[in-house]
Amino acid sequence: MSEVNNKKHIAVVGAGIIGINCAVELQARGYQVTLIDKGAVGEGCSKANAGHFATEQILPLAEPSILLQLPKMLLNPLGPVALSPKHFPKSFPWFIKFIANMFQSKRSKNIQALKNINKHAIDYYKPLLKAAEAEHLLIEKGSLLVYENTPLEKIKKQHQAYLKQGIKVKLLDKGQTLLLEPNLHRNIQYSLYFTEVAHTLNPLALSQKLNEFGQALGYTFKSFNVKTINHSDSQVELSDGEECLTFDHVVISTGAWSETLLKQLNYKLPIEAERGYSLDLSEQTKNQLNRPVASAERRFIITPMSHGLRLAGTAEFAGLTQTANMKRAATLHKNAQFILNELPKLSEEKSHAWMGCRPSLPDSLPVICSAPNHKNITFALGHQHLGLTLGAISGKLIGQIISNEKTAIDISPFSISRFN
Ligand SMILES: Cc1cc2nc3c(=O)[nH]c(=O)nc-3n(C[C@H](O)[C@H](O)[C@H](O)COP(=O)(O)OP(=O)(O)OC[C@H]3O[C@@H](n4cnc5c(N)ncnc54)[C@H](O)[C@@H]3O)c2cc1C
Repeated sequence: MSEVNNKKHIAVVGAGIIGINCAVELQARGYQVTLIDKGAVGEGCSKANAGHFATEQILPLAEPSILLQLPKMLLNPLGPVALSPKHFPKSFPWFIKFIANMFQSKRSKNIQALKNINKHAIDYYKPLLKAAEAEHLLIEKGSLLVYENTPLEKIKKQHQAYLKQGIKVKLLDKGQTLLLEPNLHRNIQYSLYFTEVAHTLNPLALSQKLNEFGQALGYTFKSFNVKTINHSDSQVELSDGEECLTFDHVVISTGAWSETLLKQLNYKLPIEAERGYSLDLSEQTKNQLNRPVASAERRFIITPMSHGLRLAGTAEFAGLTQTANMKRAATLHKNAQFILNELPKLSEEKSHAWMGCRPSLPDSLPVICSAPNHKNITFALGHQHLGLTLGAISGKLIGQIISNEKTAIDISPFSISRFN
């Protein structure tokens, strides 16, 4: 822990899993922290996600084979990827950058960066959850990626690709898969078993427990919608249009909503709200699975949580403000009927549907860095599909950056400079 500048008053704007982790880490380092959000703690994208500490996801979404599949996917409004025609002009530059990241040289660098940050992500959570008395929320039973009809040769190639990157994974046949998860549908032929990943029983409870811990350490929470940000050499001023708050340093962790604030500081941020959906099933489904099960062909995941199964996934490019299309959440239930042996009918279910905006950048890497032209502003945003996974390590890195310490990993790939 650094003793330098430990009386600095720091605002962390955005109380999602990333902001909460930053605030806890900074408060533990002796800074005086105010965590700010326009809504409630943990109720943005971090609220009802799939709860998967997905350290195996080191392959960026921008991969060439998706180009062939994309037109077919986009034609189906309830398919795994959807693009709103109204939103298309706004998202077009993002897609161009996304395609540019498919080139091998960029892709290899992005894989390396994701590998580095994912590698110890779960280890960073463990002491933190212990201190916050929330260890019970982290379950280490691995996860399965199941296949219904993909040819074995193709699955073997995927298996080898993960092994080549150092991911611990086993290829299981039908019998071995059913031994681990007896309630899976007999459609399932093979699976990849990722042995070193984990899941949480409740992402919102995890955020809330960490927030309680942070408040016990001494940080305060303020409900405030930051509309403008002004900067001088010694201070940063945040305003909601009526009230003005002044801090020595500000961390911006506003997830998918970050573009407006960064624009005021003259930084370009090609961020898309990659909207995903989840559907919670009733408590009677609670014991059907032991670990998260993702479907390779249907592109969604089922996670056993404390309240029952959660079905989650899909990517919809429709901006921050369009009304959610809850039919997409109901489609998850249709797909789950092919993955699970017995699933209560949706009409008989007391299900709960949700939509969250993933903060996605075209290279699948987050932004974790000091603002290059503003010495008292730091960014922790753009964690796309991995915000829960990378919460603890992102908080640690932000603490190290602000305390001028050597960071635990090389953070140069996560600089905002790559877009500016
Ligand atoms: C369906 C789905 C499933 C997912 N599954 C997983 C998974 O299994 N594993 C995983 O690791 N990740 C998963 N994710 C991704 C993960 O949920 C996100 O990456 C993560 O929640 C992002 O956290 P965040 O703190 O950056 O953003 P958020 O949680 O969205 O928090 C940002 C906060 O900033 C606040 N804010 C914004 N603007 C302002 C402002 N101007 N003033 C004040 N406050 C502001 C918002 O109110 C919000 O509370 C999933 C996402 C979805 C949608």
